[in-house]
Amino acid sequence: MERDTKTLTIDRIREAFRRGELSSTELVQAYLATIEKENASLNAYLEVFDDVLYEAGEADKKIKSGGDGKLLGVPIAVKDNILIKGKRAGAASKILEGYRASYDATAIARLKAEGAIFIGRTNMDEFAMGGSNENSAYGPVRNPHDHARVSGGSSGGSAAAVAMGSATAAIGSDTGGSVRQPASYCGVVGLKPTYGAVSRYGLIAMGSSLDQIGLLTRSVKDAEILFDVIRGSDALDNTTSLRAASDGRVPMTIGIPGDLVSETGLDPIVFKNFNESVKKLEELGYKTKDIKLPHAKFALAMYYIIMPAEASSNLARFDGVKYGLHKDGGNGLLSDYLETRSAGFGKEVKRRILIGNYILSAGYYDAYYNKANMAREMLRKDFRTAFQEVDLILTPTAPTPAFVIGEKDNDPLSMYLEDIFTVTANLAGVPALSVPFGTKEVGGKKLPLGIQFAAPWNREEHLFEVGKRFNNE
Ligand code: GLN
Repeated sequence: MERDTKTLTIDRIREAFRRGELSSTELVQAYLATIEKENASLNAYLEVFDDVLYEAGEADKKIKSGGDGKLLGVPIAVKDNILIKGKRAGAASKILEGYRASYDATAIARLKAEGAIFIGRTNMDEFAMGGSNENSAYGPVRNPHDHARVSGGSSGGSAAAVAMGSATAAIGSDTGGSVRQPASYCGVVGLKPTYGAVSRYGLIAMGSSLDQIGLLTRSVKDAEILFDVIRGSDALDNTTSLRAASDGRVPMTIGIPGDLVSETGLDPIVFKNFNESVKKLEELGYKTKDIKLPHAKFALAMYYIIMPAEASSNLARFDGVKYGLHKDGGNGLLSDYLETRSAGFGKEVKRRILIGNYILSAGYYDAYYNKANMAREMLRKDFRTAFQEVDLILTPTAPTPAFVIGEKDNDPLSMYLEDIFTVTANLAGVPALSVPFGTKEVGGKKLPLGIQFAAPWNREEHLFEVGKRFNNE
């Protein structure tokens, strides 16, 4: 069984547990052996929990005595910005050094209620700001398929943890693509649910109107199983919605925004691969159709206004008094704030706080933040219109495969361009799924690629339906 750890999905694990062919303890031991071997070079985990074997043992006892729980004994890795009571959580930032969570995020509580166990905290871009994991205060995460390349971000640690075979699944957060893009770079499945489908309670906030907890898994089915556990309304997050009932439809028509997905701006192999995915979908019986999303070309501009504005406000709470790091400025409270924030935040976080404060300042609020929100409404309308004609929208997940570490260091704008296909779903609030498809061979290494399906609000079921068929599940 051990040699299978990189490919085991939740259903197979549960079946093996039930038949007594595998125990949660054995599975965790196999994952720990992988971490022992790989993590020093990949840097996917910031911490491996010292109680994971104990928790696995407890789960084994429950399995033996016929206990139920959809995830009983299933080990999951958790991004460092999602709170687990009693454990450290730091959003990969120095400013949260020493902070321990005093409560469970709702998603964590729901996973626990179904018997899941947690293997460790995964590395990420500091405060989820980034698309390569190079913005972590604890060093970049390397791509398991090519150690010279990035794992993607900001949930790069979670993606690498699943891809390297050290956890059955991982949870992450997605504000502009942070689950789907690293999933694509690392060759795993990534789901960003509808805004409000999963509670954000206990997720360290970045851009609150965009943030969603998402899933990184080995199969579309696993994403479906986990989504079903963590979704639903929550009194602790008043943006959550009720579990949407199924509309009973089978999605058949797929829209392709041809203006957006064209040869220009895309890696030629990504473009070719995308066309192959269209062919495959047509062979599976789907109808494809060219659609227009006229405001999508402004999506990056909207995103890089709305996100830093909201992030700068959310990050105001880290002042050296309430959480984590405290630096004494030697000259009263204000000097403590300045000293702590200067020492605690990294370069990209400071950049976004500066931009956000500028955007929200008295003279510019209307010109930037409000304007971006008006444009966002028009983008939402584009999606509503498109979904009257088609059931799903297909794009590549990212315009390129994983790039080389350091390549975009001095060019944040080219890094932001990597988000071109993912930010639209966050701005519109619709759910989107990245499924691995194809590779690009560079220097003898096969770099994974991914394609992305977006569905109407609360129609995750359509993503799972097409995703499973497309992924041959
Ligand atoms: N890469 C995007 C950014 O840098 C997305 C981040 C995210 O989804 N958390 O903002």
